[in-house]
Amino acid sequence: MSAQLSPTTAAAPISHYINGRLQLGHGASAPSYNPATGTVIGAVALASADEVDLAVQAAEAAFSAWSQTPPLKRARVMFRFKELIERDLDKLAATITREHGKVLSDAKGELVRGLEVVEYACGIPELLKGEYTEQIANGIDAWTMRQALGVCVGITPFNFPAMVPMWMFPMAIACGNTFVLKPSERDPSTALLLAQLLKEAGLPDGVFNVVQGDRTAVDALLDHPKVRAVSFVGSTPIAEYIYARGTSRGKRVQALGGAKNHMIVMPDADLDKTVDALIGAGYGAAGERCMAISVAVAVGEKTADALVARLTPKVQALRIGDGMDPQIEMGPVVTAQHRDKITGYIDDGVAAGAQLAVDGRGHRVAGCEQGFFLGGSLFDRVTPDMRIYKEEIFGPVLCVVRVPDFASALKLIDEHEYGNGTAIFTRDGHVAREFAHRVQVGMIGINVPIPVPMAFHSFGGWKKSLMGDHHAHGPEAVRFYTRQKAVTQRWLANEADAGAQFAMPTH
Ligand code: NAD
Repeated sequence: MSAQLSPTTAAAPISHYINGRLQLGHGASAPSYNPATGTVIGAVALASADEVDLAVQAAEAAFSAWSQTPPLKRARVMFRFKELIERDLDKLAATITREHGKVLSDAKGELVRGLEVVEYACGIPELLKGEYTEQIANGIDAWTMRQALGVCVGITPFNFPAMVPMWMFPMAIACGNTFVLKPSERDPSTALLLAQLLKEAGLPDGVFNVVQGDRTAVDALLDHPKVRAVSFVGSTPIAEYIYARGTSRGKRVQALGGAKNHMIVMPDADLDKTVDALIGAGYGAAGERCMAISVAVAVGEKTADALVARLTPKVQALRIGDGMDPQIEMGPVVTAQHRDKITGYIDDGVAAGAQLAVDGRGHRVAGCEQGFFLGGSLFDRVTPDMRIYKEEIFGPVLCVVRVPDFASALKLIDEHEYGNGTAIFTRDGHVAREFAHRVQVGMIGINVPIPVPMAFHSFGGWKKSLMGDHHAHGPEAVRFYTRQKAVTQRWLANEADAGAQFAMPTH
């Protein structure tokens, strides 16, 4: 794709948001695209270390007052924020579709899933309650409380420009922290709209800040001595880097990485429902979801033949185009580079001997000839040694692997380095139970293709899909964004002084 930002391009500057104000970047910028048209629509600021420092200092300055604000008052800001997101849902969704490419209904869906975390955060007075034991010894009581950490940071991927940041900042802020978000430079505008809604909801300046940028901004955040905790979501190599660098600087880090999600199709599965589920889970958002199904594991040759026969015409019939059009089912991928990378994977799969049942390479959309489109692709007879099986493609490419039985399907999944999500389609309760019990993956669907836990549960994978001890949102978020303090108290009456004691107190 040829569209590049030139000095004459009238691309709107996409700023930072620091201390309650939009602030233009002072240094370099990068082009942001509308992937459906391939045109440059913005110039996103790339923060220097000095600009990052301004944001962190603003967050640090706001921390004392915000952390002392009663939880109920913090919750009220979240209640108002929820109403404002609902008011502006269409505008927010259009911004997501314009920069990311996903269809509008999907953009609204991601906003609603993010909104659910805001709703959960509204319960913060209840969630922050500690534990109390009266009379742990004569006249002595003990309790625990959870206190905010300070400045927390979120570094987020392109594929959910609203939902993934909303996995993080509503809970961090509700817990009493202040926050600096570094969104993906590929779809940076939604974060700014959310920042302005937080201000309108009554959040004090400095509590939530956005720095736009790339690796320079990320490194400055990881190295900043005032940053206490880092939440990252993105690809595994970067997650590993963030985890290593952040923890080596003494920060609490949760780093969620990539995925290769398998769906087992048992011979007794309802094939029509399974195929519909696979089409949505494999090709929705052009496969650019960390919980997308990218591998269908067909148990038995008959199952595999029937599955591929039914999937093929549906993949060929996908309605592909600009996500703003309500008739469209699948939009473009995010950049020309990403489209070319996915095409390279398809070339590689063909060369490795997989059968390409549907070829999405070179797909053109009339009226959007410069857009970053691909058709859906379907591979049959993929084997575990192939690169298209081993690596995350993150595009509209579904691989069918044939296995003889359930045990082989389970082994296949367990031997994969990723462990984000997985699903099984079956009518057999015993097999489904064995699957949930045994499989080495963090999130499991039983006749549910994309088992993303709701906001009041926590989200997270196993193996190379998550580094750190805490999953995102839900109860784990309270643990991640606070630290516990234990208090033991005795109020002395006018007892006789027992004198100094040198032995460890026992009861
Ligand atoms: P990415 O890893 O390229 O980027 C994520 C963030 O890291 C961005 O903010 C980016 O600016 C920053 N970054 C990129 N390169 C960096 C570097 N060298 N040093 C420091 N920071 C860097 O990911 P992406 O392409 O934006 O998103 C897609 C990936 O995210 C996929 O691998 C997908 O599976 C994953 N993802 C995972 C989850 C999950 O919950 N596990 C959820 C959504 C997306």
